[in-house]
Amino acid sequence: MNETSLADAPERAGRGPIAWVENKSILTPTSGYLAPGFTHTINAYQGCSFAGALCGTFCYAQHNHWITHGREWGLYGAKADVRSAYRRDHDRIKRPGRGEPGRLVIYMSSSTDPYLPQESRLGLTRALLEEMLERPPDALVIQTHHIQIERDLDLIAALSAKSPVWASITVETDQERLPGFPPHACSPRRRLETLGRLRASGILTQAAVSPLLPLADVEDFGRRLDAACDRVILDHFLIGDGSPGGARTRRTSLIGRLAGSGQERWARLEVLWETRDALAGILGASRVLVGREGFCAV
Ligand code: SF4
Repeated sequence: MNETSLADAPERAGRGPIAWVENKSILTPTSGYLAPGFTHTINAYQGCSFAGALCGTFCYAQHNHWITHGREWGLYGAKADVRSAYRRDHDRIKRPGRGEPGRLVIYMSSSTDPYLPQESRLGLTRALLEEMLERPPDALVIQTHHIQIERDLDLIAALSAKSPVWASITVETDQERLPGFPPHACSPRRRLETLGRLRASGILTQAAVSPLLPLADVEDFGRRLDAACDRVILDHFLIGDGSPGGARTRRTSLIGRLAGSGQERWARLEVLWETRDALAGILGASRVLVGREGFCAV
């Protein structure tokens, strides 16, 4: 895909046709990276239409063969009947005929974004949140790259009154256009503004600086994070991509893009600790969490 034409791509704009994926179940038991904090993940879409955006260049989900089946990373479909699938899965876990109810701590989403452009038309994430109001999980993290999450502020606030809910928006960098990379899925400045409005509505908010990418002004970024969110989760691909030494990310264009734009120092782990210390100096150490431990702190 031409990096300069992303905004015009029908798929990225959410206008193109979409395949419906039949699914008996929508809650997937966690394993691996998220397992210490979450019992289940939920993905309303199969694949992701932000594949051609900046985050798609290093996206960890693109390495999951169960999703891609060898296809180029992109959006493959939308799940059909998400409401009834959630009801069935929830009741099987929380209302078993015999034995104690199970735990339901949900990460939404692990291999897509709940607020793709297609969501504005299809409303699958909104439908799931409506179902969760009737059948609340024990806790929920809503993880997105996009400000469309603000559309559901009413539902998220209502659900927060029943269960702990974290609204988590990725803000990998403070730069609106990162040299050497495709455009963002959504402006970092606007993501911070959205976090601030969610927080002002009483919703728990976190900024996922993950993976950490080149920052223009860490002090200014820290001040803006301080105002926008309750906590920051900081991560680097060398420890956070779910493979030893960032092996998965090394197969992507990320390191080459950093080197090609004179930003190779951000491919080293030292920048993570330098940034952690700088942000902790502004937000306080208890509000700056790192890596898996941070992501799994629900
Ligand atoms: S939004 Fe998430 S799942 Fe989609 S391409 Fe970006 S990192 Fe991958």
